[in-house]
Amino acid sequence: MPEKTEQTFNGIAASPGIAMGSAVVLAQQELVVPQRRLQPDEIKSELERLMSAVETSKNQLIEIRDSVAGDMGESYARIFDAHVMILEDRRSLDDVVGRIEDGHNAEFAFNAVFLRHEKELWAKGDVYIKDRAGDIRDVRRRVLSNLSGMRRSPGDLSNLDSDVIVIAHDLSPADTAQMRKERVMAFGTDIGGRTSHTAIMARSLEIPAVVGLKNVSAVVTDGDFVIVDGNRGKVVISPSSTTLNRYSMEIERYSSFTKGLLRFKDLPAVTIDHHSVMLSANIESHEEVDSVLEHGAQGIGLYRTEFMYIGREGLPSEEEQHRIYEAVAAAVSPNPVIIRTMDLGGDKFLSAFESPKEMNPYLGWRGIRFCLARKDIFKVHLRAILRASARGNVKIMYPMISNLDELIEANAVLDEVKAELKTEGHAFDDDCEVGIMVETPAAVMIARELAEHVDFFSIGSNDLIQYALAADRGNEKVAYLYEPLHPAVLRFIKETIDVAKESGIWVGLCGEMASDLVCAFVLLGMGVDELSASPYVVPEIKEMVRSVYFSDAREVAERALTTARPGEVRKMTMEKIGKEQPDMPL
Ligand code: PEP
Ligand code: MG
Repeated sequence: MPEKTEQTFNGIAASPGIAMGSAVVLAQQELVVPQRRLQPDEIKSELERLMSAVETSKNQLIEIRDSVAGDMGESYARIFDAHVMILEDRRSLDDVVGRIEDGHNAEFAFNAVFLRHEKELWAKGDVYIKDRAGDIRDVRRRVLSNLSGMRRSPGDLSNLDSDVIVIAHDLSPADTAQMRKERVMAFGTDIGGRTSHTAIMARSLEIPAVVGLKNVSAVVTDGDFVIVDGNRGKVVISPSSTTLNRYSMEIERYSSFTKGLLRFKDLPAVTIDHHSVMLSANIESHEEVDSVLEHGAQGIGLYRTEFMYIGREGLPSEEEQHRIYEAVAAAVSPNPVIIRTMDLGGDKFLSAFESPKEMNPYLGWRGIRFCLARKDIFKVHLRAILRASARGNVKIMYPMISNLDELIEANAVLDEVKAELKTEGHAFDDDCEVGIMVETPAAVMIARELAEHVDFFSIGSNDLIQYALAADRGNEKVAYLYEPLHPAVLRFIKETIDVAKESGIWVGLCGEMASDLVCAFVLLGMGVDELSASPYVVPEIKEMVRSVYFSDAREVAERALTTARPGEVRKMTMEKIGKEQPDMPL
C-alpha cells in the first residue's frame, strides 16, 4: 500500500480514459546556456558549429515528422513541419549569426534570439498563442542540446521497459509522438491547454491525459502510484484503498463500455420511445474532421474559426480560408458544418492586430462586435465561408449577438458579400442557412425578435452560464458558482428552445454542457433539436440517448426547472440513466 496520503490534483481533461500505475517523473531539464566571448579567429568555426546544430535538429525533426506521418497521418506530421519552419526563419537566423559575428558564442546567441520570440508570445497571455510559444521552446531546447551534445529529455520516452504513467512539467509534441503507446498508459503535465499540440496528439494516440495540473510534477516522485482520470481531468497520487477500488471498477466499466460504443456509430440518436435528437461535434481545427467522422457525429455543430487567425503573423487570406472551409465541408457532406464566424476577443485575440487591453474582455470587444467594427476582415471571412458552401452543407453562425441591430447589420454585410460574389461569378449556396449563438442573457430575452431573421439558434452555454451567473468561465476561484444546472441557466435555455419552436426554427446547443451526460439528458428532455459535443464523447452521448426514455428526460427536465438544487437533478438523472444503462460511466 502507498505510504503517502492520497492527494488529488484537478487539471484539464485533455484526452479521455483512465489509467493507473507507477509514475515516471520527467523533471524539467533546465538547459545551461554557456556564455563566453569569442576571439576573432573563432568566429568562423562557431558559425559552422551553429549551422551544423541547426542542420542536425532539422534532420531529427524531419525524421520524427516522417514517422508520425506513417503512424498518425499527415495532419499530425504538419506539427513538425511548423517546427522545421521555425528553424528556417531567415530573419531570426541572421540575427543569431550577427550576434556570433559580434563575438558571442553560438549557444548564447541562439538562446537570446529564440527566447525573446518565445517571451513575446507568452506575454500576450492567450492560451492558444502560448501553445505556439511552446513550439519555439521545443525547437530552442533541441538546438541547444545539439550544440552541447546533451541528451534531450531525462527519460527517453521511446525506450521504456515497463508500463508507466508519465508525469512531467510539460511534454513536447515530439515527446508525445515518441511515447510507445504500449508502455505509456497515461500522462499528466503541469502546463498546457486542451488545444495544445500535445493534447491533440494524446487524443489521436488514445492515451488518457490531463494537462494544466499546475505543480503535479513537483509533488510526484518516481515510483509513486498514480491514477490519471482523463475523463474528469483529475490525477490522484497515492490513492487510498477505497479510491483504488472505485477506480479499478471504473476502469473495467469504462473499458467494456467504450468497446461497445462504436457499434452504435452509424445508428441514429433516438430514444427507446422514438424521440430523435441530432448529435454533432465541435471542432477547432480542420484536423479534427477525421475524428468527427470516426465517432459517428452527424455533422459539425460548431467550427470555431478564430483558430485560423490566432498564433500567426498576418491575417489568413480568403484563399487560405476558402481551401480549408471547403475541405471540411466536402469531408462531412452531405452532413452539415456550422461555421461560426470568428469569435475573437474574450480569451482569444488576434495576434496580427493589436487589440487594446480591456478591463473585462468577456464583456468587451469580441465576436460580432469586432467583426462589425472591422468589416474589411469580416467580409473576407464571409466570402471564404460562402464560397465553401458550393461544396457542401455549410451553415453560417454569428457569435455574441446581444441586440437586434447587430444581427440585421451582420445579415446586411452577408447580403453585400453575396452580391459581390455573384458579380464575380463565384459559386455559393444562396440558401445557406444563417443562425446565431444564443449566449448572452439579452439574446434570450429578445429571442422572438431575433428568430425572425435567422434559420436556427445554437445555445452557447459556456458563455450563457458565465453571463447568467456572473461567474467568469476561466477563473478557478469562482468555478464553484459556474453551475450548468442552476435553474436560472436552465430557464434561459428553456425559454430559447420554446421561442425557437414557436417561431418555426430549429435549436441546438454547442457548449460544454452537451458533452456532460447528465446535462445532455436534461437538455434532451427540454426538447433541444441538436446537441454538439466534443467528437470523442459523441458515442457516449449517443449510447445514453439510445438507452433512455424521452418521457423520463422530460420529467427530469421539468423538475430541474423548478428545483434550486442541481445535486438533486444529477441524482435523479443518474437513477434514470443507470436504470437503463448500468455500465454508463458517470
Ligand atoms: C459557448 O459559449 O458555449 C461556445 C460554444 O462558444 P465558445 O466556447 O467558443 O465561447
Ligand atoms: Mg461563446
